[in-house]
Amino acid sequence: MTRLKSKVAVITGAAGGIGLATANRFIDEGCSVVLADLSESALRDATSGWNADRFALVQADVSQPGDVERCTGVAIERFGGLDIMVANAGIEGMVAPLTEYPVDEFDRVLAVNVRGAFLSIKAAAPLIAKRGGGAIIVTSSVAGLIGAAGLSAYVASKHAVMGLVKSAAIELAPLGIRVVSVNPGPVNNRMMRSIESKAAPDAAEMVKKGFEEKIPLHRYGENKEIAALMAFLASDDASYCTGVPFVIDGGYTAQ
Ligand code: NAD
Repeated sequence: MTRLKSKVAVITGAAGGIGLATANRFIDEGCSVVLADLSESALRDATSGWNADRFALVQADVSQPGDVERCTGVAIERFGGLDIMVANAGIEGMVAPLTEYPVDEFDRVLAVNVRGAFLSIKAAAPLIAKRGGGAIIVTSSVAGLIGAAGLSAYVASKHAVMGLVKSAAIELAPLGIRVVSVNPGPVNNRMMRSIESKAAPDAAEMVKKGFEEKIPLHRYGENKEIAALMAFLASDDASYCTGVPFVIDGGYTAQ
């Protein structure tokens, strides 16, 4: 499918599991993509062998306004405009009881997950408006819908971005910009390996098994399954979708 032919996207957190799979899928669908992440070498390694005409790499910390503007600037300079922003960069933070959760760690998680999403929407919207409209997708989580012990900062951050999505969707609808969130359940990648081992350093595999038992489909999602939903939401196939979460969780939150 080439649903994103001639479109230009910025994807943050693009060296990670979901971001990289999304960049790959967008390029397959005809999009040109600016991949942004903390480490340029990680981005280079992840994209080695890809068609250089179709992507650009930017080292950026999404909590810094100048860095986010550099990403959208590269989209304009290199590809002539911006149609799609995927505010996907995120960190899980520590796993600890709320009463013991360090304040600076709480601030760090919100700086990336909430301030980063806010800055990404803020920088992208005027540029997408110049093209006559487009889509902004924020990666929230099932942790944006339900609580989780030990992950208070992460859960708070993923709930917060749902509010950003709703407000932005209302504000930006007159400009033809749709704003949605993608809310995955546990995905089979680095972030879940990290959460599993932080939750139980000596029994990470048991934590994974516990999650799998609770998921009606009895498995984690895969990066490419999340990327497929991202591609739908970024495309005109989703032309009536805005302001709401798109849950992709194997049935986890159905119960
Ligand atoms: P990941 O750790 O593989 O990818 C996250 C990426 O974000 C990494 O490449 C990291 O370097 C980057 N990043 C972190 N801080 C950044 C910053 N300040 N600026 C720019 N980039 C930064 O994990 P992932 O699963 O691919 O995560 C992508 C998104 O999906 C995150 O927002 C995460 O919270 C969300 N999510 C993940 C899961 C899961 O189970 N893995 C479930 C639901 C939601």
